[in-house]
Amino acid sequence: MMTEENRIIELRKLLEKYSIEYYVYDKPTVSDQEYDRLMQELMTLEEKHPKMYDPNSPSQRIIGAVLEGFEKVEHTQQMLSLGNVFNYEEIQEFVNRIQESVPHPEFVVECKYDGLAMSLEYDQGRFVRAVTRGDGFVGEDVSNNVRTIPTIPMYIDEMRHVEVRGEVYMPKQSFEELNRIQEEKGKPLFANPRNAAAGSIRQLDSSVCASRKLDAYWYYFQNAGDFDIKTQEEALEAMEKLHFRVNQLRKVCHNTAEIWDFIQSIANQRDELSYEIDGMVIKLNDLAAQQTLGSTAKAPRYATAYKFPAQEVQTRLKDIVITVGRTGKITPNAVLEPVRVAGTTVSAAQLHNEDMIVSKDLRIGDIVVVRKAGEIIPEVVSSLPERRDGFQKPYVFPEHCPVCGSRLVRLEGESAHYCINQDCPARVVESMIHFASRDAMDIDSLGDKKIEQLHEFGFLNSIEDIYFLKNHREELLLKKGYQTKSVDHMLNTIEESKKQPLGLLLYGLGIRQVGKKAAMILAQHFGSMDALMAATYDELTSIRDVGSITAESILAFFKEEKNMHLISVLKEQGLNMLQEKTQKKQSCFTGKTVVLTGTLEQYTRNDAKAVLESLGANVAGSVSKKTDFVIYGTAAGSKLEKARNLGVSLMSEEEFIQEVANAFEKD
Ligand code: NAD
Repeated sequence: MMTEENRIIELRKLLEKYSIEYYVYDKPTVSDQEYDRLMQELMTLEEKHPKMYDPNSPSQRIIGAVLEGFEKVEHTQQMLSLGNVFNYEEIQEFVNRIQESVPHPEFVVECKYDGLAMSLEYDQGRFVRAVTRGDGFVGEDVSNNVRTIPTIPMYIDEMRHVEVRGEVYMPKQSFEELNRIQEEKGKPLFANPRNAAAGSIRQLDSSVCASRKLDAYWYYFQNAGDFDIKTQEEALEAMEKLHFRVNQLRKVCHNTAEIWDFIQSIANQRDELSYEIDGMVIKLNDLAAQQTLGSTAKAPRYATAYKFPAQEVQTRLKDIVITVGRTGKITPNAVLEPVRVAGTTVSAAQLHNEDMIVSKDLRIGDIVVVRKAGEIIPEVVSSLPERRDGFQKPYVFPEHCPVCGSRLVRLEGESAHYCINQDCPARVVESMIHFASRDAMDIDSLGDKKIEQLHEFGFLNSIEDIYFLKNHREELLLKKGYQTKSVDHMLNTIEESKKQPLGLLLYGLGIRQVGKKAAMILAQHFGSMDALMAATYDELTSIRDVGSITAESILAFFKEEKNMHLISVLKEQGLNMLQEKTQKKQSCFTGKTVVLTGTLEQYTRNDAKAVLESLGANVAGSVSKKTDFVIYGTAAGSKLEKARNLGVSLMSEEEFIQEVANAFEKD
């Protein structure tokens, strides 16, 4: 039996993984409901086990991404997330809690837009900059992209400093259009408007962002105090006067029943709204009382978000069909009688593996419950055995690959079946799609559909063939839909891809267990394909983030003659097999574990972390016996105290700056 303590650790790992997929890669793999459910479980367990407190736990952190390519900006005041409530009783508890300290409170109930939080600053009546929430403390300056959103004013009739915060989102119509275009190009679809909006705002080329047709609503007047504004409602009105887009769908409420009724009335109109909302936000109206209540590390105490439940519908499971992935992984998919749910028509859903079909007792012809939230990814929740009429057939999992006919294997301890025939056409096509994908070699003219077609024509039968397509130029030009311009563009982008750094090439090769992050780490560590190929098991496992399973998988990959052949052909074709190593400077921090605490004057948290890492330090989030240094700024709290108790070496910001200067002077 797993102890509750171990479950806490497991949940933290799982939620961290989901957060990274969601915030950093804009590619969630589970629904928000599932994520919220796990988060609730974690928070309940953490409350029961206060000794397990960890400031790095996903329950304590606003996890966000601060990416390369945009200037990082520290927020004047932390940009918080919101606590969640899921039903009437929890709203009531929230209201009761507020009533304990605020007599006769009023609440403003607003829509909760499914976009990304943004802060806008104005000085002397002019737009100064737009910054994303990032990790709450530091965000990215995305002003160039925000300027492309037509409803955001660049000039306002107010000379004093103004900072407003709100949500940039992608209207439903823009989202559907974007995914239609993505589909046409054979590119992956965006999971939901939030991800699409986040992806657009992080485009380095703002013309791409402009084409995505974003919009925004503003709901928070950061420096309302400078304008003698007393309530949230007044703040919204004041922002509106300054021509910020403020939503009229809101209501000042006085008790739980009133709040609940308003929420239900909006829930009923949800499908008709031109933008996606995933819930409603309930905020205490009085700004002074908000101040008194303050906030936790992650969320304000004076507001909370009610999240709409996922929508569930019933439909018939017509069939189960199998697809073969690039690694040979077999995925069963439900073919459903088309049904409308959460704004879109659903006709298919992944079933993951045989065990899932068995545990849910899904039979062909069953009426099943399908759930879908704001995401694209629908889920089959259960079957309804009471609705069976005798015509249902149990599903027999195939023993052979539906594409190449070879026997499927299910390895011990794994839930998935695999087709292990390396030459299985389905695997070959999927591996080429992965190789050319945006995250790997980024050959954007070679989308999924194009690769499938070129495979059918017989031009693409393996990854190396991509680089020999140029030999088929004349034949291609004879095919329908292949004009000189598009063919030449395709061949050029293929040539261009040869320059991609080693990390992306490694990822593109699709070595099992080697995801994008591991590929980057390996490329950084070894610097060249040759060095990686010569690496031993011990060398591989000595790298942080590379475990024994990954190491074995890498060794197995390079043992295969077919893979060695592929690499030598790619070398001959002139693909870049090197990665520039960022040289780590030697310093007193090299190889040491360092923790930062308090506010630094000269550095933002992220910059300090980057400097330390460039000096070879491992920057950790919490203090333990293994910590070598704690660097402290002003207002340092519990971490500093803990470091003192444990006898960890302390370093002031001044000393830190001196050490950094010493390290850089050595050149
Ligand atoms: P959140 O979305 O639960 O709520 C906070 C945010 O709501 C604010 O930062 C703000 O951007 C937004 N907001 C929208 N309308 C608002 C309004 N009128 N007033 C105030 N704020 C408003 O919190 P979050 O930290 O952005 O994201 C956490 C959520 O993201 C989770 O609850 C989960 O649903 C989802 N998530 C999903 C996955 C996944 O894998 N599916 C992973 C991580 C997070």
